[in-house]
Amino acid sequence: MLEVKNLHARIGDKEILKGINLTINDGEVHAIMGPNGSGKSTLSAVLVGNPAYEVTEGEAWYNGKNLLEMKPEDRAHEGLFLSFQYPVEIPGVSMTNFMRAAINEKRKYHGQEPLNASEFMKLMREKRKVVELDSKLAHRSVNEGFSGGEKKRNEIFQMAMLEPTLSILDETDSGLDVDAMRIVAEGVNKLSNEKTSTIVITHYDRLLEMIRPQFVHVLYKGRIVKTAGPELAKEIQERGFDWIKQEADGE
Ligand code: ADP
Ligand code: MG
Ligand code: MG
Repeated sequence: MLEVKNLHARIGDKEILKGINLTINDGEVHAIMGPNGSGKSTLSAVLVGNPAYEVTEGEAWYNGKNLLEMKPEDRAHEGLFLSFQYPVEIPGVSMTNFMRAAINEKRKYHGQEPLNASEFMKLMREKRKVVELDSKLAHRSVNEGFSGGEKKRNEIFQMAMLEPTLSILDETDSGLDVDAMRIVAEGVNKLSNEKTSTIVITHYDRLLEMIRPQFVHVLYKGRIVKTAGPELAKEIQERGFDWIKQEADGE
């Protein structure tokens, strides 16, 4: 699914990613943890093609294609999905119209006819049920005036609609309450199958207890310095990151 090799990236003249190696196979759920400022959000931004970051070295392959040579919108059409740490509000654009444009752009990319209004509404209904999104939210402007939990559910709904093969969920460093965590966890658990993969970026051990990733990575100073099973999240919860920082700095 995804193979990242020795990935380096910078913003301005500041190098942020300093040699990331990461392999994700079909059906796997990976968590990325790490102290604030270690490059977690940068990694997700680089993978989806945020032009603010410059890749200076390394490779990223996605289902056999060179991810770094693809336009950001094509990465999305190929099945890459990034949730935003701080979801944007788009006043005046209803969720319905927003999703319809996104779905039909993706279909066009794959040489398929656009969905007509009734096909699209049927899809909306099906997916709303899966993620238990209130129909009222679906008709409001994108994220406008949504509560934190509603934004989360909306994000999971977008994910359900777009049926990504690789989802990257970059969770806020603060302010994700237990209900919002449950929404995210249930969504990820419902939507993942043997053909999809998920990267959850979080420092919430609680969230990872609900999602149960097979792999937990720690990103520190632009490198993955530790990889283990879900027990690592628990250990970090209990001991913090200092011991991992010391191990990494001592090398
Ligand atoms: P994390 O998500 O792990 O907290 P980030 O990827 O957000 O870390 O940030 C990594 C480092 O890159 C930090 O030192 C941060 O200040 C810096 N950085 C990120 N984005 C920018 C930017 N747009 N301009 C300047 N520095 C940035
Ligand atoms: Mg941060
Ligand atoms: Mg971040």
